[in-house]
Amino acid sequence: AAAMGVNRSTLVTALDNLAASGMIEGRHGGGTYVTGSSWHSLAHASLPNWSEAAQEGSYYPNLPEIQQINQAEFRPGIIRLGTGELAPELMPNAAFNDILQTLSCRTRTLNYIEPQGSLELRKALSLHLQTSGIQASPDSILIVSGSLQALHLISVGLLPRGSAVLLEKPSYLYSIHAFQSAGLKLNGIPLDEEGLDLGHLDRAIQIAKRVSSENGDESLPLLYTIPSFHNPTGGVMSRERREQLLSLARSSGISILEDAAYQELWLEQPPPPSLKAHDLEGRVLHMGTLSKAVSPGLRLGWLVGPVPVIRRLADIKMQTDYGTSSLAQEAAAAWFADGHHASHMTWLRPELRKRKAFMLALLQQHFHDIAEWTSPEGGFYIWLRFSVEPLSMRRLFHACLDEDVLIHPGYLYDRLDTKHIRLSYAYASFDEMERGLICLAHAARKLL
Ligand code: PMP
Repeated sequence: AAAMGVNRSTLVTALDNLAASGMIEGRHGGGTYVTGSSWHSLAHASLPNWSEAAQEGSYYPNLPEIQQINQAEFRPGIIRLGTGELAPELMPNAAFNDILQTLSCRTRTLNYIEPQGSLELRKALSLHLQTSGIQASPDSILIVSGSLQALHLISVGLLPRGSAVLLEKPSYLYSIHAFQSAGLKLNGIPLDEEGLDLGHLDRAIQIAKRVSSENGDESLPLLYTIPSFHNPTGGVMSRERREQLLSLARSSGISILEDAAYQELWLEQPPPPSLKAHDLEGRVLHMGTLSKAVSPGLRLGWLVGPVPVIRRLADIKMQTDYGTSSLAQEAAAAWFADGHHASHMTWLRPELRKRKAFMLALLQQHFHDIAEWTSPEGGFYIWLRFSVEPLSMRRLFHACLDEDVLIHPGYLYDRLDTKHIRLSYAYASFDEMERGLICLAHAARKLL
């Protein structure tokens, strides 16, 4: 009171009045406390400016459209034409019900477990990865809470701030955010029908090397790539391009982070072997997930890499979240051990084939004169390019949202894109696909 220049008795009277009206509580020997409900009114003058504080920190905010998508997705009745998830009816609910019932008998699932991940699950994954030609011992596997977490761990635990990350242009949108927020310099490499443009990549590597040696450090760039059923384009890197890429990586010394999120979701035949399957020297880090083929809600992914990398990232994981949910890991271990995975994939592929064919037929019917599109061999995505102009993707996004139809414009994946949208045949029901695409075609024609 003295410091504020206020008479003590004035203050005591004021406090008594506040106590009488229930706005503060006195505690014996412990001073006076503002009660929960009236905290705002009393403490207003000393409140931090939360709006300003909410702009701070190292994370970039999502683009407004991404924030709108993330909110609108949970609106009842919304049609989700771009969602990169299996429809609820394609998820293995019955199998997980059974698995979870047997797990509840075991007490250890309720404990913390080692941050690198359950040994049982790592052993199961080691076997599973062999089916894709990848030799990974359990100690070279880190279990992560969704593969997006692997991108964050690598960004903060392996890559020096300011070092270069090369990635496909366009690319998975949250990879861009993870790298940017960690202060890494991104350089987008264009794609052609066989995958990454290696001439362009080679030049980008040379530039990155020159920049780091001018800055007095010898850090080499990392290449982040999604070779099979790319997000958002759906494309597949050819076998030849994969071989050439590995040889370029060897000659230039760069390391590669292979994101295999969609690799297993082939429709007619498997894609060429993963980069990791041909990596004899340990240059490739490989990440996978159960999110796309099984369940994103499990939050279960993995990273395969050299043991020192896995140990380093497990140490950071301990500091971040103490390890992935032990319950999810036990469930995932049972999922593989009981043979559910293989039978689920065999069931899922024809379902996705039907959906893809249905969406392509709708596109032919309603978009043949205004757009062209890809016909993917796996994954979820059709990359549609409007061939008419001018057509603002931003306005199209909002026009569709007003009609309760959600689309994913191309600029979410490449800030400079003006012509594409990413469509997914995995999420919307047949009826929703039809209503949603008719609405989209109508909105596009109206905006032209
Ligand atoms: N990589 C790619 C290419 C993705 O599309 C996604 C999900 N959209 C992820 C990683 C992350 O998935 P999760 O964290 O659920 O494993």
